[in-house]
Amino acid sequence: MNKNINQILISLSKSKFRSGFHLNNSMKSYVKDKGIAKIKNDAFEIINKRLKPAFPKNDGKQTPMRQVHPVFISQHACACCCRGCLEKWYKIPKGRELTDEEISFIVSVIVKWIEKEENV
Ligand SMILES: [Zn+2]
Repeated sequence: MNKNINQILISLSKSKFRSGFHLNNSMKSYVKDKGIAKIKNDAFEIINKRLKPAFPKNDGKQTPMRQVHPVFISQHACACCCRGCLEKWYKIPKGRELTDEEISFIVSVIVKWIEKEENV
């Protein structure tokens, strides 16, 4: 697993597709309202439900593209949207459950990206 968050964020910022995702103003105020601890909690729930299983439901299409929740947008920006992207970007193999360590790492990346967006 590639575990250097800053290095990953730099590589992601060089991808035209990944760097095209941003929080809009209502998403930003949502994050401010709820607080980063709540967002982190939501990220855990979302990853556990949609990415943890060895064979997630609708893998590759399980993460909405619309501005539904800041975590979804961050997942696209950070290539944490499906198991294919996790394998490609993070070297986390498909076809087995994510470990607790992998999940907390993914959550850290997602939250860090959201914090960066908030400060822009
Ligand atoms: Zn994906």
